[in-house]
Order: sequence, then C-alpha cells, then structure tokens
Amino acid sequence: MEEAQRQAALAVRLVHEVNTAMTKIELNRFQHALKKKLADLEDGNRNRGAIAIETSPDEMDRIQHGQERDLAIGALDRDSRLLGEVRAALIRIDARTYGICIDCEEDISMKRLTAVPWTASCITCAQAADCVASEPWSASQELLVGTR
Ligand SMILES: [Zn+2]
Repeated sequence: MEEAQRQAALAVRLVHEVNTAMTKIELNRFQHALKKKLADLEDGNRNRGAIAIETSPDEMDRIQHGQERDLAIGALDRDSRLLGEVRAALIRIDARTYGICIDCEEDISMKRLTAVPWTASCITCAQAADCVASEPWSASQELLVGTR
C-alpha cells in the first residue's frame, strides 16, 4: 500500500515536471530569437560607427551637436546593455537555467519570455527592480528641467 502511494506520488511529480519544464522545441525557438537579436544588435553597433565629436564656433550649434551626441551615446548604452542581456540569456540556455528567475528562482512565465526572450527575472522581481531604477532617472530629469 505504501509502495503504491509512493509510486502514485512519483507519477504525479513526473507529470508535473513534464508539464512545467520547457520543451526542447520551445527552448530552440527562444535560442533562435535570441541569436537573431544578437546579430541585429551587432550589426547596429557596426553601422553606427564612432561617435563624432563636432566642434563649432556657434554656441547654439555646439549645444545642438552635444545633445545629438548625448542621444547617440544613450542609444549606444541601451544597445550594449541589451547585447549583454541577450548574450547572458544564450549562456543560460546552454547552462539549462534559461527561464528561471535569477532573483527568486521561480519559473518566468512563457508570456513574458515570448515578449522579452532575454529577460533574466520574473515579472515580480523585474517590477521591484524598475521601482528602484526609476528613482535616479526622475532625479536627473528634474536636474535637466532646472537648467533651462
Ligand atoms: Zn523573480
């Protein structure tokens, strides 16, 4: 009787694991999407090339060029951060830890992974991190407004 119960419990666990574990096909699909994104980002970096620092005797021109440069640097920053995230996600696929939140170790939902395949954390942890990250941003925004 006890053995039968043990077997039944094991069967339930196996079914659970099969249902929750990401299938090979799904994993391949994410890997494909990530590799495509990686190629896109690397192409973008190459095409953008070096950021020229232009000087101009005209004050307004200098400000204009400075703002354009800041924007370009901002985009470059975002892309290189994304590039790092995509690379890390590909490493997690190889390490068989893909789809598991790096913060709480819960499964990341399929919906979230489909929308953001390079995500390393579940929606709960990502939102918690966003709250912290948005504070310095709003502070610098106020700073910008203050200089005008
Ligand atoms: Zn989490």
